[in-house]
Amino acid sequence: MPQKRWRELAEKINQHNYQYYVLDDPLISDAEYDQLLQELIKLEKEHPELVVPDSPTQRVGGEVLTEFRAVEHLVPMYSLGNAFNAEDLQNFDQRVRKQLGEDIEYNVELKIDGLSVSLVYDDGRFLYGVTRGNGLIGEDVTHNLRTIKSLPLVIPEKRHLEVRGEVYLSRRELIRINEERAAEEEAPFANARNAAAGSLRQLDSKVAAGRKLDAFLYALGLDSGLELDKQSNLLEFLHNQGFKVNPEYKVCRTMAEVLDFCRLWEDKRRDLPYDIDGIVVKVNSLKGQRELGNTSKSPRWAIAYKFPPEQKETEVLDIEIGIGRTGALTPVAVLKPVFLAGSVVQRATLHNEDELRRKDVMLGDTVLIQKAGEIIPEVVRALPEKRTGQEREFVFPEKCPACHSPVVRPPGETVARCINSGCPAQVKEKIAHFASRNAMDIDGLGGSRVQLLLDEGLIKDAADIYYLKAEELMRLEKMGEKSADNLLQAIDKSRKNPLHRLLFALGIRFVGAQTAKILAEHYPDLKALKKASADELLLIPEIGEKTAAGIRSFFTNEANLDLLSRLQKAGVQMKNEDAGANKQIFSGKTFVLTGTLPNFTRQEAAEIIERLGGKVTGSVSKKTSYLLSGENSGSKYDKAVKLEVPIIDEDDWQRMIKEGEEK
Ligand code: AMP
Ligand code: ZN
Repeated sequence: MPQKRWRELAEKINQHNYQYYVLDDPLISDAEYDQLLQELIKLEKEHPELVVPDSPTQRVGGEVLTEFRAVEHLVPMYSLGNAFNAEDLQNFDQRVRKQLGEDIEYNVELKIDGLSVSLVYDDGRFLYGVTRGNGLIGEDVTHNLRTIKSLPLVIPEKRHLEVRGEVYLSRRELIRINEERAAEEEAPFANARNAAAGSLRQLDSKVAAGRKLDAFLYALGLDSGLELDKQSNLLEFLHNQGFKVNPEYKVCRTMAEVLDFCRLWEDKRRDLPYDIDGIVVKVNSLKGQRELGNTSKSPRWAIAYKFPPEQKETEVLDIEIGIGRTGALTPVAVLKPVFLAGSVVQRATLHNEDELRRKDVMLGDTVLIQKAGEIIPEVVRALPEKRTGQEREFVFPEKCPACHSPVVRPPGETVARCINSGCPAQVKEKIAHFASRNAMDIDGLGGSRVQLLLDEGLIKDAADIYYLKAEELMRLEKMGEKSADNLLQAIDKSRKNPLHRLLFALGIRFVGAQTAKILAEHYPDLKALKKASADELLLIPEIGEKTAAGIRSFFTNEANLDLLSRLQKAGVQMKNEDAGANKQIFSGKTFVLTGTLPNFTRQEAAEIIERLGGKVTGSVSKKTSYLLSGENSGSKYDKAVKLEVPIIDEDDWQRMIKEGEEK
């Protein structure tokens, strides 16, 4: 009874999703959860007719759109009027009381700093979801919303509902995504809101699935005849339907209480794992809300109290140039320490030369700083009106401060680089990256330790880490016996890391943590990846020209090959644990190759087929699945025609692989 088992599994998984993602209270281990999901995936593979859009298996992403569908909201999505201080709130309160009388309740809620969406459910199923857009028409982002694990795809309520709320990203996830973007040499997102918007507005749902988006729901669009009387009850209703509702809401009877709530959260917000940019004050009675109605832009029954942005003035003591592992020169302002948004700030990035010019920052300037997304300190602008005449212009260096090689900035690019691969600053950053948390994760081998080992001549590159000896380490003044021992253990442990960690750690251009995982899914070992041509790499849907070129150039560089061979000799694992982990889309298929293919040698094509689980034989028989035929094909072609074996060319073959990979 596959249908029955499917339902059991789907219900169980949905229940565990709810426990984990909404209640934050898992009932089973990750391994047990994976087992359920794997069983469901297997069942659906065997019985494809069971796959429905709201199956828990459809949350992993994969759907790729060519454009967004424009969708009209059933009820317009309004923005909110703003209050910046107590007086603004008092005025709002007076307007409300004037119309509704003195017996007023307000429901106050955290203003989540994400982007609003509207989700349509019918007959208990999630149908589609739309961004706010211009308030009247938004974009259909259903494919990405499905990847948000806390959003129920099935709910008990059968009526037609338009549920509204905020899609957001946690601060931790923002940091992770930005680290990943830095590795791929993409500009970081300025804050969690931009990152959430950037993730939701992706045509390829794999991108959203790889970023842990989440959603708090707090409103209904359409009047579905639910007979709710208060906003606070509406939140309870949504909670009971399985939606994630922010628990920090409160019913207040007076403006004094509302103000207390606002002030409380102005401080406490830094303890939250996500960003809020204010408090939303709503008339609690839904009847009262209807009576007050809306202006053309926003409701008259609600207002957003905005927290003052946390900015502070401080002084630029110096501007230092940091050199990254790819040689990029980044100007960093060294500041007179100030306390800002929960921590002491002493340094703030100025990103690049153009930013430095645009913000017009001079040495000794007074500047305004803020925390982007509440975490990363940045210089907003200089305050030239505070200049005393003592300030000095900062001259962007033409030579690398670490190795004195000339700095190169190609026309049209914002990044200036030191292109000396032996540059000591780059070497240090490369090794520190190799050992870092998302890479080989070697505990106790941070930047300053790496510098120490370099200074002492114990290492010259990442491979040398694996040849360190206890006596050598113990001789170092700055390292005791215990910490030397711990370090060696951490190094040893990293030998057994999964392949994707090594791939990321190598610092191949444009290969971030995510891309490294994708590569490890497609190649059983480093040897196979090393041999892959650019054309072969492009068969992987997520790999573009830039990345393919980055990989090729890494594996054609002598120094890199030498590094790899020393890593291998040191016993660093260079293959996937589970050799069959990569996709076996040609399993059970037999190919025969003939003629010259435009982009692949026959040897290369054969290896790809075998890697994907297929077989390659020398002659055509009735059992041959496909003849892959190129220019100047020989007698095999005629034989295939005679035996009615399907004949494909390189294009067909590439398409088969790409389509197979996307499944
Ligand atoms: P703003 O975009 O600053 O004008 O603020 C209005 C936006 O605040 C709304 O469109 C929602 O996206 C967002 N928002 C966040 N949390 C809430 C909440 N609890 N209630 C209503 N709106 C909220
Ligand atoms: Zn240099």
